[in-house]
Amino acid sequence: MHNKDLYRYFTSMKTPFYYYDIHLLHESLTRLRDSADKYDYQVHYAIKANANNRILEIIRDYGFGVDCVSGNEVKRAIEIGFDPKKIVFAGVGKSDDEICYSIDHSIFSFNCESIEEINVINEWGRKKKKVVAVSLRLNPDIDAVTHKYLTTGLPENKFGIPLQFLGKVIHQFKILTHVKLIGLHFHIGSQIRELGPYVELCEKVNAIQGTLSHKYGINLEHINLGGGLGINYENPDSELIPDYGNFFETIHKHLKLRKGQKVHFELGRSVVGQMGSLISRVLYIKKGLNKEFMILDAGMTDLIRPALYGAQHKIQNISKPEAQIMNYKYDVVGPVCESSDSFDDNVMLPITKRGDLVAIRSTGAYGEIMVSQYTLRDKPHAVYSDELTDGQGQLVFPQAAGM
Ligand SMILES: *Cc1c(COP(=O)(O)O)cnc(C)c1O
Repeated sequence: MHNKDLYRYFTSMKTPFYYYDIHLLHESLTRLRDSADKYDYQVHYAIKANANNRILEIIRDYGFGVDCVSGNEVKRAIEIGFDPKKIVFAGVGKSDDEICYSIDHSIFSFNCESIEEINVINEWGRKKKKVVAVSLRLNPDIDAVTHKYLTTGLPENKFGIPLQFLGKVIHQFKILTHVKLIGLHFHIGSQIRELGPYVELCEKVNAIQGTLSHKYGINLEHINLGGGLGINYENPDSELIPDYGNFFETIHKHLKLRKGQKVHFELGRSVVGQMGSLISRVLYIKKGLNKEFMILDAGMTDLIRPALYGAQHKIQNISKPEAQIMNYKYDVVGPVCESSDSFDDNVMLPITKRGDLVAIRSTGAYGEIMVSQYTLRDKPHAVYSDELTDGQGQLVFPQAAGM
């Protein structure tokens, strides 16, 4: 962010709020679509990253599908107008209501995480006289080299079916009459910044496909490699759009496909992460015994990632956009009555005073969607860059603020 007029505009607004750079979102989506089209890959947006309706409407218009992990996400995607034929539904604990709703709307695929779940889906298919499309979410035993709460592809994680059970599952599908196995699904984790784990995943998939065809005579139509592509939190401005081209090229190089197979992805963070900033006002600079606390009007109820996984976001004082020298050290905290309500320690910033605005960057993913009302705090509102300008791209200042 480097728009001084924009920051002046923010000064008149109620804080905290999520600022969404819609222009950047369009750029990112265009790049993603073009990169995926090159290999005819199908992308499903992982809606849990950000389910703000305005954002979803924009993503919908690019023709992507949706990756859901709850029944309400499936419902929201359908309400927004995504094609049910491009909706996939994962999750270890799908309830009967969620299963029924998704069968009734004929979604593309249930990504099933256990034999027990497949049996329940088969039962509902039988009652509804439908054959339900199912993919197996396999746990490939791959270390995604990310935060321990962000790995999902290791045996100690609750996700997916262990590879060792593959034979048993295949056998089960021969018995069941109201489920049809259409593909394999994997999702090894999130905020993955090196492509090594994806190369490893491709090699595992190649081996699994070999076993499936040689041992069981099965060739599946769909291979879904999930999401997880990471973003640059330390220095967002150097990498506002993730390198989708390199990502897909790496997959293309390492994944051996059978005839007629379609490859799917489920990207969340990389699509929406960089377009969002949480804008907050400094309430107090509180002198402690041997440190200074910068107390913001935004807290863990507005952005929980730092408290939940120790995530670090770049923090900028946007009331001093010109400042070059960052010679003051602050512990940046929120107002909530929890010691974990802290955004970061020892952050170097220009001297900051009460009333200054700060931007907590790269908060478009897993930000607004995780807002809670703990301590009955207000929810932050959302501001969209394209609603701040007139037809000529000039900022339109709010009347109410008397400007
Ligand atoms: C969360 C999730 C994703 C998206 O992960 P990102 O790291 O945001 O890309 C994809 N697939 C499944 C099954 C998920 O649970």
